[in-house]
Amino acid sequence: MGKIIFWIIVFFLVLLALRLVSVHKTRQDAKDRRDDEAHQAKNQRDDTPAQDTMIKCARCAVFVPKSTTVLTPTGLACNDSACRNRR
Ligand SMILES: [Zn+2]
Repeated sequence: MGKIIFWIIVFFLVLLALRLVSVHKTRQDAKDRRDDEAHQAKNQRDDTPAQDTMIKCARCAVFVPKSTTVLTPTGLACNDSACRNRR
């Protein structure tokens, strides 16, 4: 009888160990996924600086970030193809 109880205890200890390994792995996967998502979000972020000055386009009068403008004879203009074809 004592042997049976011993093996039942061993069986449940093995189950407990497997459960702990599984929980650890799940947590690790969740952490990896969070890290990946954070990394992707960082890469997908618009690289236009938030503090970029808005400039009025000399051709179409639309306000655009200064870093996206091009210098034209009439002043800074947006780099939009539809706007570039004006005049
Ligand atoms: Zn324009």
